[in-house]
Amino acid sequence: IVWDREQGWHDAEVLPYGPIPMDPASSVLHYGQEIFEGLKAYRHPNGDIVTFRPEANAQRLNESAARLALPELPVELFVQAIRELVTVDADWVPSGHDQSLYLRPFMIADESFLGVRAAERARFMVIASPAGPYFTGGVKPVSIWLSGEHARAGRGGTGAAKCGGNYASSLLPTRIAAQHGCAQVLFTDSATEDTIDELGGMNLFLVHRDGRLVTPELNGNILDGITRKSLIRLAQDRGLTVEERKVTVGEWRAGAADGSITEAFACGTAAVITPIGQLKSEQGVLVDFGDRAPGELTMSLRDELTGIQFGTVADRFGWVERIVTA
Ligand code: PMP
Repeated sequence: IVWDREQGWHDAEVLPYGPIPMDPASSVLHYGQEIFEGLKAYRHPNGDIVTFRPEANAQRLNESAARLALPELPVELFVQAIRELVTVDADWVPSGHDQSLYLRPFMIADESFLGVRAAERARFMVIASPAGPYFTGGVKPVSIWLSGEHARAGRGGTGAAKCGGNYASSLLPTRIAAQHGCAQVLFTDSATEDTIDELGGMNLFLVHRDGRLVTPELNGNILDGITRKSLIRLAQDRGLTVEERKVTVGEWRAGAADGSITEAFACGTAAVITPIGQLKSEQGVLVDFGDRAPGELTMSLRDELTGIQFGTVADRFGWVERIVTA
């Protein structure tokens, strides 16, 4: 679907997957005026196909659009695009727990000019790809790398938007993390270097021995993760306290050392919940939960959320949106 200043959004169509025409002077190629989303379609045991909280993705896309000077996309158009694509691609939605059809909605500025200003023309597209289980052979704790050198986004920057530029800046630190055997990079606030923001592609939670959950507050620098939001709700519904506040690396280290912090996990659409076993940096191992199996609370929240998504646990918050009825 195409947008321009005169006509607004128009010319929606579903096309077979393939290359798209692109002018070499298209503004997205030069100034990175681009945003995206990520969500999944799941097949329930009865054959129905559903998505999870697509309106939340639509809202977040519009918050990203506002920051990147891109046009607003009505929530209904976003959801309709998802519905039409998943309906056409229904045969590509795998069955089985931990399998899904990953959906990638994105919006690009697409006006041809040289000169730095917001474009007057944009395109919104959705592509899809089947996704297998994130973990093969069971969920295992991962190591993560504290980047002492690189920030993902700075105060007043685009950290809260889901825009390509944030990921461009995280590619090098992510490669460095991988060279140290770590699955993800942990970014701290660029100003204080000790306040935890988030991981390269996931939000972070710490679990206290008394069942309290602590997660970095939405400080304008981190993504308002839909998995994060959903887990906060599930935990509160169990009567657990969830503290959204400033969290430091120092607090995590001290809590892990004295046994008051017993679990840590990362969360996002791709892996749902990933237990964290170790935090490492140039200074060596900062936190080590040892050879312990994934934490109990971590795994029970994971089971509840994936159960809702895959249709084996009652959807008591109305998060699941049916697209195809078997
Ligand atoms: N932070 C970043 C930087 C991400 O890329 C993602 C994945 N979209 C998340 C957090 C988690 O967000 P969500 O739960 O909506 O997938």
